[in-house]
Order: sequence, then C-alpha cells, then structure tokens
Amino acid sequence: MIDTHCHLEQPNYDNDRDKVIEQCKRNLDAVISSCAYPKDFDLTVRLVKDYPNFVFATMSIHPKYIKYVSEQEKEDYVKIIKKNRERILAIGETGTDYWWIKENEWRDKQRKLFIEMINLANELNLPLVIHSRNARESTKALEDTITILERYDVNRVQMHMYNSRMQLQRVLKNGWMISINTLLLRSKGLNKIVRDSPLEQLMLETDAPWLAVGENGVIKRPNEKRNLPIAVKLVAQKIAQIKKLPLEQVDKATTENAKRFFNI
Ligand SMILES: [Zn+2]
Repeated sequence: MIDTHCHLEQPNYDNDRDKVIEQCKRNLDAVISSCAYPKDFDLTVRLVKDYPNFVFATMSIHPKYIKYVSEQEKEDYVKIIKKNRERILAIGETGTDYWWIKENEWRDKQRKLFIEMINLANELNLPLVIHSRNARESTKALEDTITILERYDVNRVQMHMYNSRMQLQRVLKNGWMISINTLLLRSKGLNKIVRDSPLEQLMLETDAPWLAVGENGVIKRPNEKRNLPIAVKLVAQKIAQIKKLPLEQVDKATTENAKRFFNI
C-alpha cells in the first residue's frame, strides 16, 4: 500500500517524525510527501535521502500560497527543483484554489503559476499532481484547472483529493488518475465517485496531517488530531466495500497504479 499524497514536513511531526516514518515502513510500501512551499524543500529532501526507496517527494508551490512566494523565491525554487530532478517523482501540488484565494488578480496569478508548473513538468518529463479547490459558490476552479490541462495536452495527471461527480467522466476519459483519502469515510458523493471509477484509475492518499478521522467519521483539524499515512488502510477498506472486492485486490491494484504512475 502506498500513501501517494501526504505532508511529512509539517510541524505536526516535528517531535516524532522518524517514529512516524518507521511506523509507515512497517505497514506501507512507500510514502510520497508533497512539498508545497519553498521553505519546506530542505526537510523534504533530507527525508528522501534518509529513507531511500521509501520516502519519495513531489515539489511545487501550493496555489493557496500564491501571495506569499515572491518572483525571486519562485525562480530560486524552480532552479533547485531542476537540480534535484532525480530526487523528485512529480511536479505538484499545483492548480487552482478559489476557496482560499478570492481576488481575480490573484486567481490570474495562480493560473499563470500553474502553467509554469505544467511547462516545468514537461521539461523534466515528470507527471503532475493537481490540487483544485472550488469556492463555495461555484465549480469554476476545477473547470479552469481541467481546461488548462486539456489545452496543454497533459496526460500524466493525478487529481489529488478529487471530489466532483460533475466532471468525473471527463477526467476518466482523459486517462487521469484520481486519488482518494479519508474523506471517503463520510462523503456520499465520494462514495459514488469510487463506485463509478475503474480501479485502474484509483490511488490512495491521506493528505496527512490533515483529514484525521475522529469518532463517527468526523474529520478533525490537525491541531485536534493529526492524520497519519497509515490511514490509507481505512481508505482501501472502504473502496473494497464500495466495489465489493477483496481488500487484497484493492491494495494490489492501487499500489501497482501508484508505482506505474510515479515510475517507482
Ligand atoms: Zn496536499
């Protein structure tokens, strides 16, 4: 089993990060940590070096941080990503986030950065990990993200935390991968997305330390309860239940999908 999207560099793990990773090693085949901010680069690369062939990384600037990274910081970050190409599995998470970013001017900048990241992924021959979060009032963020990906003819795409039934057939038809996390335990819509998606296009993730499941399937904030990468087991069990398949089959297929997609 592989957690294809978590954030091991987050401060929630500062006191026991190595213990958490050792626990993952006893339970999982690999963990892919998403470095979403330039200042997290060093710690992420250290983890990749300390846990060879177990901790892997993807790199980009999260669209919700658009206001906090200067042009210069971005340029330096892109340079260091290029230099460390061999330590990186994908470019991401990148895309649009109209939930956190409301101003049109900054949304324009998100899309511009997204296109730069698509070009970077092309240049480095790496797949893309997509974050796209709609504002409460519309589905425009995801619509914009999908349209840009199609315009640039991007094939190797992981839709992280995907949750829209409306665009599902379009995403599947494009051959993109969907990764499912613990939101599945409480979201009826996500249950239907899993039901309607072929197992060949599904991967497991947690987005840990976020999305920890408390009692009654309630999702907690990381300061109340942090999530751990081993929670992918809960996600796999739920997928098995929805698809009426043995857990081993879901485990094997999602692991193979992740290995193939990320070229592990
Ligand atoms: Zn994430």
